[in-house]
Amino acid sequence: MIITESGISFKDMTNKNVLITDTSGEVLSGYRKPSSELGMHLAIYKKRPDINSIIHTHSPYASGYAFSDRKLKRLEGFGKIKDEYISIVDYAPPGSLKLANYASKVMEKENVVLLKNHGVITAGKDLDEATLLAEFIEESAKIQLVSFILNL
Ligand SMILES: [Zn+2]
Repeated sequence: MIITESGISFKDMTNKNVLITDTSGEVLSGYRKPSSELGMHLAIYKKRPDINSIIHTHSPYASGYAFSDRKLKRLEGFGKIKDEYISIVDYAPPGSLKLANYASKVMEKENVVLLKNHGVITAGKDLDEATLLAEFIEESAKIQLVSFILNL
């Protein structure tokens, strides 16, 4: 698996800031420590052989929903719409096994999940698909917040 290193900003990232690990998380190549969410990524990949990319972000609007008691609706474009709202898992500390278990359980059947008081995870068949979904989630959170404010 290829994963970004811990504590690096995307704006400062180069190809030297990614590591390669085996499926148990053992670092095979790279210069620094992998992301503290390594376990969460591995747990999701183990349950989803059909996906090849996972994005974990703290994008402000979608994360705002994860910090609030308000649910984030699924907008059109999410593909197979099952529930009206994006799933959210209970809070567990970042980097914990508990969080990896919570997130991977939902991601077994979904391509997006909110992490309570933390952020967002999206997945796709490749990096473009996972990134596009992460951008779409952020955009829909922004739209729903603006709509909520305008309706006050
Ligand atoms: Zn995080």
